[in-house]
Amino acid sequence: ALKIFLGQFRNLLMVILLTAVVLSMLVGEVVDAAIILVIVVFCAVLGFVQEYRAERALEALKQMLSQAVSVVRDGRRVEVPARELVPGDILLLEAGDRVAADVRLLESHSLRCDEASLTGESVPVDKHAGVVGAATPLAERANMAYAGTAVTYGRGRAAVTATGMRSELGRIAGEVAIIETGKTPLEKRTDEIGKWLAIVCLSVCALVVAVSLIRGYLNQSLDLELALTMVMFAIALAVAAVPEALAAIVTGALALGMHAMAKRNAIVRKMPAVETLGCTTVICSDKTGTLTTGEMTARRVHGPGGTVEVGGAGFTPAGELRGVDGHSPVTDPSFRRLLEAGLLCNDSELFEQAGKWCIRGDPTEAALVVLAAKAGLQTVGTRRVNPRIEEYPFSSERKRMSTIHSMADGAFVVFMKGAPEVVLGRCSSVAEGTDTRPLSDALREDLQRTNEAMANDALRVLALAYKPLGETAVADLDQVESDMVFLGLVGMLDPPRPEAAAAVATCRSVHIRPVMITGDHRLTATAIAREIGIHQTGDRVLTGPELQQLSDREFASIVEHVSVYARVSPMDKLKIVKAWQARGDVVAMTGDGVNDAPAMKRADIGIAMGITGTDVAKQASDMVLSDDNFATIVAAIERGRWIYDNIKKYLAYLLQCNITEVVVIGGIVLMMGPEFLPLLPAAILYLNLATDGLPALALGVAPAEHDIMARPPRDPQESVFDWDVKSFILRAVIIECPFFYYLFLVNADDMTAARTAVFFMFVIVEFTIALNCRSLVDSIFKAPPHKWLVIALVWEVVLVALLIQIPGVRDAFGIRLPGWSELALIAAFGLFVMLIIEATKILLRRRIQVRRTHTLAR
Ligand code: ADP
Ligand code: MG
Repeated sequence: ALKIFLGQFRNLLMVILLTAVVLSMLVGEVVDAAIILVIVVFCAVLGFVQEYRAERALEALKQMLSQAVSVVRDGRRVEVPARELVPGDILLLEAGDRVAADVRLLESHSLRCDEASLTGESVPVDKHAGVVGAATPLAERANMAYAGTAVTYGRGRAAVTATGMRSELGRIAGEVAIIETGKTPLEKRTDEIGKWLAIVCLSVCALVVAVSLIRGYLNQSLDLELALTMVMFAIALAVAAVPEALAAIVTGALALGMHAMAKRNAIVRKMPAVETLGCTTVICSDKTGTLTTGEMTARRVHGPGGTVEVGGAGFTPAGELRGVDGHSPVTDPSFRRLLEAGLLCNDSELFEQAGKWCIRGDPTEAALVVLAAKAGLQTVGTRRVNPRIEEYPFSSERKRMSTIHSMADGAFVVFMKGAPEVVLGRCSSVAEGTDTRPLSDALREDLQRTNEAMANDALRVLALAYKPLGETAVADLDQVESDMVFLGLVGMLDPPRPEAAAAVATCRSVHIRPVMITGDHRLTATAIAREIGIHQTGDRVLTGPELQQLSDREFASIVEHVSVYARVSPMDKLKIVKAWQARGDVVAMTGDGVNDAPAMKRADIGIAMGITGTDVAKQASDMVLSDDNFATIVAAIERGRWIYDNIKKYLAYLLQCNITEVVVIGGIVLMMGPEFLPLLPAAILYLNLATDGLPALALGVAPAEHDIMARPPRDPQESVFDWDVKSFILRAVIIECPFFYYLFLVNADDMTAARTAVFFMFVIVEFTIALNCRSLVDSIFKAPPHKWLVIALVWEVVLVALLIQIPGVRDAFGIRLPGWSELALIAAFGLFVMLIIEATKILLRRRIQVRRTHTLAR
């Protein structure tokens, strides 16, 4: 905290102000010096509070993103934060994990790691739990996995050997930062605006001072006192003119916005994403778990003996199995085998916690465990007596998974589950009772039809198969996964999330295009997409293989009409992102697996799933959804727009204050000469730092406007300093200035009276313009109430009212106590300014309405 506080003094403005304090002390203006000093401290505190809160917000985000790992402790699998790993822990690894420590493998199944971050080797390397020679170089130690590398395939179990700085990566790299806070485009742009304005304003100041000094010299009134006054004046005007800490406050607004978004389950990892969110025109979303609840329940099983309807809901293993057409599932041996296959070729677990049934692992698999339990199978026991000896894991490319078991009767059996087309392609017979019969073409077609009928009912369908391997477990994968015996189809219901349809409707109304991308069957995907409004009549559905057939040109010409992609593999996602981007769209893309990373990186906003997402996906992402929910993306977009709006309001207000001050004060001195300073330096500083500061900050956290989700997406090329902001500043300056000149000129023969009038006009007009700024385009009667602004403004008035009671302050400001009639006139002027600005907004709204209908019609 102290460092942040002291850091506030390391900027040019502060140095200038402190110089002014010293100068005032030297010429004996103690009150001036004190006032400036108070202002300096006030400034530092304001900056400190802003920066400290931003820092804390980012810190909290880092905490939320801290990696969780699965370890075995006390014989049970538990999730712990990665930083709590210790040597000796048994770490469980699976595809998509970022290895959290250096580990020695104890067990591995097709395990492959991407060690590019450590060895530079770009091809994933195979890992085995064997023994290697003591002199083996790091890159070839196949029985070790290293911190910071990624598991790209397979599964394993390993003992932690070194953590943190003692790991191989720790030795070379130190901690890998989680949140990236490079300068965002917005910060860069505001920096630029700030610099540009500073140059212009400083030139004006220099001009004013130079002209004044030359004039003084020419009419021989130039003496030390005038020179000093002019220097102080120049400092004050420069401080007033230079938009101090513009970018710092933008950063603060972004960081606080990120904190607020994190509370609503959208954790932004890269700050620029906050602004990009507001420009998003296309959201490519996963289906399973994002648009749907992911609480999968097996509803219908189509086995060789007939169809079985399954009762019950969620993961609770209670529900009736009812055979259709006289089929009796309980006595059918092939049905039992099907259940067994589903249970054994499965990595998920079902357990009861505090009276509630929970799962660990993939919900698709958990549904099969629940199904087996409903049929009365001993789930834990079955797995124990039929141990798994080999496995070929599921991946979105393979769309199947196989495991080999040493069965209780001594035989080896391979079980397979996966997408029906894929599994059917590897079967040559069908189970029937205890026997099998060949899978004829007619039967194959029949099964396809059943599959499609289930998919049409929005069921996610999995096929199951098995094959006895005899006495030996064959190693060749292709051989293992061929000539299988088909067992049946299981259709599971994965209901759409209740909030998804509304979120999709919101997207559509503002011309953000929702697109569904899934590995699931085309008909299942379409049925659900239709239910939640992503698929509308006339839209096209493409499957992964179809997509791969299309050339980039052909695809570009239809991408706009495709709202559902089914049976895609992760690499297809990249093609989709590119095609949209080629049209100039800003794409948000969700992902969870290892192979989603390229598409997520390429997308303008990569969104990782917080619950089901792998570490690799999270690291490639700009934002993590801690609830995996599509509606959260839409809420985050809304936030992004809102934050951007507030930064615009803040900029418009602060810049118009600065520019008006320069135009009024500089203008009068330039026209009338240095004896006519309309405000003394202390007053200028006070107005600039104490009067505009708080309302500006308050505007930075203004409530969202009513039409925030009714506007089309912002053009990413558009600067924050856009037409709304520029025209607001211009209008404000043009409308205000005549009042200032008038007040000064009618009182010009009594400088104290003139300064008093100008000072209070500033106080009041900055008050009323802050109210105008509550919305740059909407009427202030429509803008939502804004507590902080009201507090800031009341505080301003109270502070001024108290300060001017002190004679020393009045002297330093060069003003006197104003009379009531004087104040009333100024207040009337202020009100008038506010009303004229409101009137100009009406014209502006017409223009915007025309522009918006035009864009939306397009
Ligand atoms: P998504 O996550 O988009 O629904 P996936 O790539 O996970 O798609 O799944 C594609 C298909 O693979 C599913 O429709 C299903 O048939 C099959 N499948 C899904 N999960 C598993 C699994 N754990 N084991 C075997 N097959 C699976
Ligand atoms: Mg999946």
